[in-house]
Amino acid sequence: KPTLLWLRRDLRLSDHPAWAAALKAGGPVIPVFIHDDTVASLGAAPKWRLGLGLGKLAETLDEKGSRLILRKGEALQVLRDLIEETGAGAVHWSRLYDPDAIERDKAVKSALKEDGIDAVSHAGHLMFEPWTVETKDGGYYKVYTPMWRAVKDRDVAEPLKAPTDLRPPESWPGTDDLKDWRMGAAMDRGADIVLPYQTIGEEAAQDRLAWFIDDPINDYNDARDKPAVNGTSGLSENLSLGEISPAQCWHAGMRKLNMGSKGAEAWLKELVWREFAYHLIYHTPQIATRNWREKWDEFPWNEDGDTPEVMAWKQGRTGIKFVDAAMREMYVTGRMHNRARMIVASYLTKHLMTHWRVGQAWFDDHLTDWDIASNAMGWQWAAGCGPDASPYFRIFNPETQLEKFDKKGNYTRAWIVEGQDEPSESALSYFDAIPRSWDIGPDDAYPEPVVGLSEGRQRALDAYKGRSF
Ligand code: FAD
Repeated sequence: KPTLLWLRRDLRLSDHPAWAAALKAGGPVIPVFIHDDTVASLGAAPKWRLGLGLGKLAETLDEKGSRLILRKGEALQVLRDLIEETGAGAVHWSRLYDPDAIERDKAVKSALKEDGIDAVSHAGHLMFEPWTVETKDGGYYKVYTPMWRAVKDRDVAEPLKAPTDLRPPESWPGTDDLKDWRMGAAMDRGADIVLPYQTIGEEAAQDRLAWFIDDPINDYNDARDKPAVNGTSGLSENLSLGEISPAQCWHAGMRKLNMGSKGAEAWLKELVWREFAYHLIYHTPQIATRNWREKWDEFPWNEDGDTPEVMAWKQGRTGIKFVDAAMREMYVTGRMHNRARMIVASYLTKHLMTHWRVGQAWFDDHLTDWDIASNAMGWQWAAGCGPDASPYFRIFNPETQLEKFDKKGNYTRAWIVEGQDEPSESALSYFDAIPRSWDIGPDDAYPEPVVGLSEGRQRALDAYKGRSF
């Protein structure tokens, strides 16, 4: 009997326990991706990027004599249809940990089991299943460092090799045409500009890991904070879609650590920040939608995403160079450097006293490495209302941050046209990427700050006064 392999955020062949288990069942394996509500509700950039990842995987499978079956609809119904069409006796998949996915997957599992189908979920998206990491008194970690200590010496299974025999069925069920899904529909604006910045698919992700491990990892401690330096792995988009597994990254980093590479531990720690984000969303699913610390519900945040100040933030025209460079970087590349993410998030939630959900929603729509858990944790961290968050009185000063991390102005030159005699191509491309309706162009004068840095800082501190967080 054939086995269905239900792919979601695990678009790879190697180190794929669900795929290995499906093959082990002995019959042919039919890989399927379902365009359901969770896909329909993705933001423009992540949906577009997912489409690119699916295209790449389909290509790879074709080359190996397999196929990626694409179907649209409610997951359980699609799986039942496919079971009927193919006579499959089992469905395997890799687990996800956000509340919507958990609810869907639980319902699918119990319904299929009632149908007499072997429905099996597997690890693969994380190294440490959230329920296996517990504090001494049996709770979950709310603070990162103790979680790091708890997992850093654990054995992470050696990554599995990609299967060589994908065992196709005698006949394939019908599939949608990826083009008809129009995954890039909402990206029409700057898709061709954003494309060159993407590292798409398993092979490209492995090459990128090899590049990073070969050398940049050695300088990671220092380079990772400099937004103009290509000093981080850039693997977040691949990890988010499962084009590479965290265990593959972990083992590569560990080998470097054992060779005495100075930056390796810091990098391994970042991989555990990703695990921590999933640990949190699993144990406290409200982190994606509500203030993690409820006391913050009373804080007088602006929740309007269309005020002139917030629009200036979205458009990279706040008059604060670090913020503007970063917002433009995201618009053009689908990515933003981590330090820059912290700065723009602090600026929006503190200087502009705007609710983190406004920023989260903008990121949801513009990041090609969008990840539900890391994005939510990052925003709540910056706003001060999350677990292990940056305290409310810690208000980043984007100017001193710029002096510290972009001394020579390379980052701002890369993204801000105004004031430059010979602007860089990347900075100019921003104006090709943005919608015409914004009515801004490279010849405009660079804007005055929408809020003075010390004025904005004081405004936020005054609003915090008298509250106990
Ligand atoms: P590297 O420095 O090479 O790190 C390796 C991997 O570790 C990353 O690929 C990522 O998977 C993980 N990692 C690194 N830093 C973090 C972190 N702070 N939190 C969680 N995981 C981390 N990351 C996303 O993947 N998707 C998001 O949607 C996202 N939104 C964010 C929003 C805000 C407000 C903030 C402050 C951070 C956000 N991050 C997000 C985390 C971080 O900025 C990115 O993971 C990082 O910039 C990716 O670059 P890299 O792959 O070169 O990372």
